Amino acid sequence: MPPPREPAATAIHWFTSDLRLQDNPALPRDAGLVAGVFVLDPSVLRRHWEAQRRLAFMFATLAALDDALRAKGTRLIVLEGAAADELPRLASRLGARLVTHATNVEPGARRRERAVATALARDAVTVRATEAAFVHAPGTIRTGSGGAYHVYGAFARAWEAEPVSPAASAPRQWIAAEDLDDIGVAIPAPALEVSAAGTTVARARLAHFLTHAVADYPEARDIPATDGTSRLSYHLRWGAISGAEAVRRARAVAADHPSRRAGVRVWARELAWRDFWAQLLHEHPRLATEGLRPLNIRWRIDDDGFRRWQEGTTGVPLVDAGMRELRATGFMHNRVRMVTASFLTRHLLLDWRLGEAHFMAALMDGQLSQNGGNWQWVSGVGADAQPFHRIFSPLRQGERFDPEGAYVKRWVPELARVPAKLVHQPWEILPFERRGLCPDYPPPVVALDEGRSRALAAFEEARSKDR
Ligand code: FAD
Repeated sequence: MPPPREPAATAIHWFTSDLRLQDNPALPRDAGLVAGVFVLDPSVLRRHWEAQRRLAFMFATLAALDDALRAKGTRLIVLEGAAADELPRLASRLGARLVTHATNVEPGARRRERAVATALARDAVTVRATEAAFVHAPGTIRTGSGGAYHVYGAFARAWEAEPVSPAASAPRQWIAAEDLDDIGVAIPAPALEVSAAGTTVARARLAHFLTHAVADYPEARDIPATDGTSRLSYHLRWGAISGAEAVRRARAVAADHPSRRAGVRVWARELAWRDFWAQLLHEHPRLATEGLRPLNIRWRIDDDGFRRWQEGTTGVPLVDAGMRELRATGFMHNRVRMVTASFLTRHLLLDWRLGEAHFMAALMDGQLSQNGGNWQWVSGVGADAQPFHRIFSPLRQGERFDPEGAYVKRWVPELARVPAKLVHQPWEILPFERRGLCPDYPPPVVALDEGRSRALAAFEEARSKDR
């Protein structure tokens, strides 16, 4: 007679921003039965409360994760409370000796992970934390002297040379849904309508992009009116797909289709930016609130200008189109993010932290490492930053990347009747024509030349103080 089987040990996987089963190296594979849990922590939710669209997208991604777990006979446990209280309670209830989770680089998340580890250690529960979001784990690509890279070009070269790890497999055994009784609460319903979410959607989006758009990506990525980019950022943000899987799939496509090779390389280097900002924040947690090279700029105070920027009523068409796209969808095209951020910090001469906070509240893909890194880059205060005196002209950017005004007209309907050659500078339209073409569109909050000169003067003043 065979010996009676030992009841399988139980492990808990605490999902944080790695909301997927496929290619998730943080999941336990060798631990017997696994239960998946997400903790709705009021102190974290409160911090993100303004970001209703991002929260709604997170809830939609959680629902998709729950569907994937139900297909395996289990379900997602959702708990409410502080993770450091809830996880030990759950471990004790399920008799789990192991808790796994993916690591995060954001300082607040790291504090929470430390609190959880301390609480579980008190009950002698082992904690295993593994990086699962990036192509290469923050802290693993180091300069010759062992530090983080501060220059993107050098980082990207080292990043490209590093082999991407093979896909991680998923646990084979999950705790049956009926054995979870009534533990936990329901996943909150999204308060707003958001894009479809989850791994299946993200994979389909990636496949569509790699089939139809990647070959043209090097040029099309700058044209906001086209569907020329992958739109994967919000799926990556919540970990519905891993950065490593995206690069693996893209390179496999490049191997089979030489015509897509150049596009895949340029696109993968965008994912290297994502890893670049993560490794910097991992190394310098203070980047959460200040630039690596703070500038002594005397920022203006201008509540009305800031409000007009937020609402998309600055009277500068490309800026307004971007800010309205953001408000309506929780997304903004990358080129336009750069233009709107430059306009705030140069033409309006307002502190980049105001813009960073507004984007953080509005973006579905908003993430401190990425949003902070990019704002610091645009504002000239970060690592390898765009110098402050390099000022994007929203007019030139519009003429170059939205020559027909298709993007501007999509988001600023007041300009629908303006001919293409004037759509980026409606202030040039004669007053009597304006009344017929765009009577409701406001004059610019600041004349572009005036704003530019004011920014350059502030920059000179800051430099002279630093000398
Ligand atoms: P694609 O062009 O298809 O690029 C593929 C992926 O590469 C993106 O999904 C993203 O993960 C990564 N990527 C592309 N550009 C960048 C970049 N500049 N920095 C880091 N990663 C990049 N991205 C975020 O994910 N979260 C943010 O909070 C965020 N805030 C930003 C703020 C500003 C001021 C600026 C200028 C950029 C910001 N970005 C942010 C980067 C970028 O705008 C978005 O990642 C991109 O527009 C997403 O669209 P996509 O997925 O179609 O990109």
